[in-house]
Amino acid sequence: MSTPAYPITEHTYDAVVVGAGGAGLRAAVGMVEAGLKVACVTKVYPTRSHTVAAQGGINAALGNMNQDDWRYHMYDTVKGSDWLGDQDAIEYMTKNAPASVIELEHYGVPFSRTPEGKIYQRAFGGQSVEFGKSQAYRTCAAADRTGHVILHTLYQQALKNKVQFFSEFFALDLLMDDEGACRGIMAMRIADGTIHRFRSQLTCLATGGYGRVYFSATSAHTCTGDGNAMVLRAGLPLQDLEFVQFHPSGIYGAGCLITEGARGEGGYLTNAEGERFMERYAPSAKDLASRDVVSRAMTIEINEGRGCGPDKGYIELHLEHLDPKLLQERLPGISETARVFAGVDVTKQPIPVVPTCHYNMGGIPTNWQTEVVTRKGDDANHPVPGLMAVGEAACTSVHGANRLGGNSLIDLVVFGRAAAHRAAELITPGAAHKPLPKDNADLALSRLDRMRHASGSQPTGQVRLNMQRTMQRHASVFRDGPILEDGCAKISEVAASLADIRIEDRSMVWNSDLVEALELENLMLQAVATIESARFRTESRGAHAREDYPERDDENWLKHSIVWMDGQYRATIGDRPVHLNTLSNEVEPVKLAKRVY
Ligand code: FAD
Repeated sequence: MSTPAYPITEHTYDAVVVGAGGAGLRAAVGMVEAGLKVACVTKVYPTRSHTVAAQGGINAALGNMNQDDWRYHMYDTVKGSDWLGDQDAIEYMTKNAPASVIELEHYGVPFSRTPEGKIYQRAFGGQSVEFGKSQAYRTCAAADRTGHVILHTLYQQALKNKVQFFSEFFALDLLMDDEGACRGIMAMRIADGTIHRFRSQLTCLATGGYGRVYFSATSAHTCTGDGNAMVLRAGLPLQDLEFVQFHPSGIYGAGCLITEGARGEGGYLTNAEGERFMERYAPSAKDLASRDVVSRAMTIEINEGRGCGPDKGYIELHLEHLDPKLLQERLPGISETARVFAGVDVTKQPIPVVPTCHYNMGGIPTNWQTEVVTRKGDDANHPVPGLMAVGEAACTSVHGANRLGGNSLIDLVVFGRAAAHRAAELITPGAAHKPLPKDNADLALSRLDRMRHASGSQPTGQVRLNMQRTMQRHASVFRDGPILEDGCAKISEVAASLADIRIEDRSMVWNSDLVEALELENLMLQAVATIESARFRTESRGAHAREDYPERDDENWLKHSIVWMDGQYRATIGDRPVHLNTLSNEVEPVKLAKRVY
């Protein structure tokens, strides 16, 4: 294969971070602080990254509202993960969470305050003190705009530290060498279509999740899992893709999120009979049970004909009994969202909500130090030289089969910081770069060239819709064998139809048609990998609920799934052991138990 003739602009850095959400920015700031020359490449302007949308808060056992301990946080996270989370990584995250939040405060994050001036913490689902005894108040919040303030503060820190930004640059593919090491990335500047090669000793993928594989999602249109797809195209696997979180409160019809913090502040759910049905499904935690539990209960209520509205299609979330002052102070953003997207005044009416795709627990497998690991020979933990992943793109795996609310933002900053620490150990600032293989740019440029000249009969939007509807129908809150079988067959047909797409715009100047096609190809790899992984796992665990295998099966399935994809959208699936060990002797591993709330 010869490289298509595009002039290439060269860049050389110690480290390249792809992504400027919370994870990428925290990693980039730390790497510069460690003396490295760092480029941050991002397809959207940094403060438009999806982290800006995070509402409810960030978890850390600060104990500002009541007694708390990182060991309780660890216990809740392992239980929330349905024991699929790696306990060494969970210990690291929960132990380092308080320091990471204080660090954010010192960076300038304007958290809401208690009357004594401490960081305000609210109740969130699945969180307890004393190992399940009573509700914890662990989620540090800045009203309901926590992600917004964290992202803006980290961006300011990045500017102060002179991280070099390449905004609105679209990363195409990894530069891999013949020894399997990552040596940087190829990217396209969206504004003018110029091609750029970033050589680096270390590449850190912080490209976020791939929620847009589904028809109804709380995530931004940019959440297309590009880093995950780059990893698959480099011949490396992804992990635990079958675990997709459906958030209980997406606005019916619009998909926009109403934070779990709304229930944390006293909101509750009812069915068409006005019944607070969560009392039946989770007698202790009720509306604040773990997200997968609440989403399943809502889906059962709707499926059994107790949904609200003319089509019995949704559940009602009530906030109208709460003090309007509290709503204004603690939940101003969602009051506005409900008004704009559901036409509801939350002080007077309930909000119509349905479970909506919200978060990807699966992603690029890493160890607790954020190095990408793969299965090589007998060593399931072999790091890929030069490659790291952080944030929602990564599967570290601290969320296992189900993520707790507030645990993503803490994952971003704890592991963003860990990536910087590891980078400082692994690379010497200014060290010489090894020569690249001759064909290093081929993968990226031949794909770009193929897409640019795509002249089939189907618009990108049509193929994307077919993919999203197939995933929504066949790999949603409840799954079973025949639905998944059928879904796998249908998604292969949709994937094959990518060969027939048409790009209308042939120019290289701000060609959003081309960018969307590249994103669609990325999404499609993950759609196939997700539904194939869901078919593979014949048990129910966390967010993966199979009607034909309703029980968790630790004997056969206490393991991560690992999926590779080939160029024809064929999946190969294997597994990796779950780390049931802790990192230190400060805490015992959380023993396997039935997960009840
Ligand atoms: P993102 O913030 O998604 O950033 C991805 C970055 O990668 C962007 O900068 C993008 O430009 C870049 N990128 C992607 N592809 C490319 C490419 N090809 N080339 C170049 N750059 C690329 N979690 C909590 O813990 N608490 C909450 O309260 C909370 N609220 C949420 C509310 C909503 C509505 C949603 C959807 C999620 C919420 N979450 C919450 C989850 C959390 O917000 C996300 O998991 C997290 O922000 C992801 O951060 P990230 O840094 O990994 O990626």
